[in-house]
Amino acid sequence: MTPYPPTTPRPLGADSGQGGANADSPSEIALETLRQLALRKIPPTPENYRELYCRIRGSADDDVFPTRALKAIANALPRATPAETRSAQVVEAAIASGKWPELQRAITDLHTSRSRSDKAWGALIRDLILQFERRHAELTQARKREALNHVLSAHPSADILHERLGSLVHSWSQINASDAPACSNPLPPDDVPETPGCGAIPLADGGESLAGEAHAPSDALLDVDGPPLREAITVHLEQPAARTARIGEESRAEREALIGLLRLLVDNIRGLVIDDNWLHEQMSIISAAFSGPITLRTLDDLARQLREVIDRQSRLKDDFAKAQDRLKEMLAGFIDRLSEVIVHASGYHDLLERSARRISEAGSIADLSEVVGELLDGTRGAQESTLRASRELTELRKRADEATNEIARLHDELNAASHLIRHDPLTGALNRRGLSEAFTREISRMNRKDTPLCIALIDIDNFKEFNDAHGHGTGDEALRHLARTITEALRPQDMVARYGGEEFIILLPDTAPEAANTILIRLQRELTRRIFCAPGSERLLITFSAGIARILPGEQPEASIARADKAMYAAKRAGKNRVLLAV
Ligand code: GH3
Ligand code: MG
Ligand code: MG
Repeated sequence: MTPYPPTTPRPLGADSGQGGANADSPSEIALETLRQLALRKIPPTPENYRELYCRIRGSADDDVFPTRALKAIANALPRATPAETRSAQVVEAAIASGKWPELQRAITDLHTSRSRSDKAWGALIRDLILQFERRHAELTQARKREALNHVLSAHPSADILHERLGSLVHSWSQINASDAPACSNPLPPDDVPETPGCGAIPLADGGESLAGEAHAPSDALLDVDGPPLREAITVHLEQPAARTARIGEESRAEREALIGLLRLLVDNIRGLVIDDNWLHEQMSIISAAFSGPITLRTLDDLARQLREVIDRQSRLKDDFAKAQDRLKEMLAGFIDRLSEVIVHASGYHDLLERSARRISEAGSIADLSEVVGELLDGTRGAQESTLRASRELTELRKRADEATNEIARLHDELNAASHLIRHDPLTGALNRRGLSEAFTREISRMNRKDTPLCIALIDIDNFKEFNDAHGHGTGDEALRHLARTITEALRPQDMVARYGGEEFIILLPDTAPEAANTILIRLQRELTRRIFCAPGSERLLITFSAGIARILPGEQPEASIARADKAMYAAKRAGKNRVLLAV
């Protein structure tokens, strides 16, 4: 377009050279504008028309398209983040081009990205609450609270806060949740109560309202922005967190009180049923389970083992009751048969008396022969009946003996069913459960009394060859013999457990490694003295290699076993049939 002089306001027609009309009204200015366009042969585009119109009116172009005012607004737009800076630049470009539609689009975009960022906050807060509430295997609630406080106390801008909270949530979400399998972990001391979905005891009081409270913050925080946002997060997240911790404390206290009660009850029942092996064993494993740290896994194990024993015992008790009923029936039959014999015998007795009287009164041989005939018949009958009764009674006696034996067998089996909770069925030594309980007990005694505790891991030498040469059955007998010999040769306080196929662990309380070594050498000698006689009366020498480890303060049983195992393998490598101390 043709250049114009500077845009200072001037009277209409000042540059028209026509001394034109005084154009005050918009329609007159418009008319003059058209006239000037025609006179100057300027193409009548909207832009040219607008520019000329402004000049004729004597006002800046901004009066129609308020560039200056809009630039001031664009300058005030926030540019704290790259996204904000980008949006402000788009608005600026739209203002510079002086095009309303572009400006309108830029402002709409600004608004949309704004509400998108609100939504991003909403999603972040929801995730934050989710991860905060979730139980993690290695991250306590207290540590999460500390990390959250750290991020919040840095007072960053909203965008940086968003980014840091996002990283925090992401890092929590990468840690394994302790939900299903890890429920078995012992509860960390400052942890919160588990959520009901985890199979734990639900929050007794306040749990539901807490859940509501925990979900409210994300909605509430959607309306908050800037520094108040940080404050709002603190209020909405920290309060439920503190409340969760308090309820956790209360719940733990309740649980401990319940466990205390249960322990009291179990100990009392144990005392009452001291003569009843069937119940006594069950009570003692419950009592042992409650003496250590309680986790969902220990409770599950306990329930499973009790269920197995209870099922087995109830089947045996059924058989037991039936065998007793059979015995009672037999005794009743025995008594009936005996009374029949007695009735029969008294009938014969009457016949004898009657016959004696008739013989003394008999007047002829014919009378006598009749009496003798009756007497012979009666005697034969009595003889047969006595013989039958004797046979029947012998049979009854046999069946009663069988029933009594069956009852005794079932009784023994019932005792054994309880025994199997802790003992290996083949050798009678402790099984893994029995060993683990013994370990727990002895380690706490070691700590309490400050006395040494040693373990020995023993492994039979060349047992595969032994089985191959003499058969698996003889191998089983050899295992029994070994367990029996060790048990009888040890002191009463020592314990033997079958750790694996042909491996045993001996727990030696109050014993230093050197003394344990002496005990093990004594066991080796004992095995050569009490030599194993195989079923075909063949005498077979069983030898073993062993590793001894002293339990170190704070050491887990598995770690001591691993050290003893290493020493045992060193003994094998050194030629077998020897004992070595672990380092
Ligand atoms: P090493 O001296 O190196 O210990 O040799 P080994 O043959 O004793 O050891 P290996 O581990 O090769 O074999 C162990 C054998 O123990 C193999 C397995 O059949 C036998 N065994 C494990 N449990 C039982 C059991 O309950 N009864 C019987 N009879 N044998 C068993
Ligand atoms: Mg082995
Ligand atoms: Mg072996």
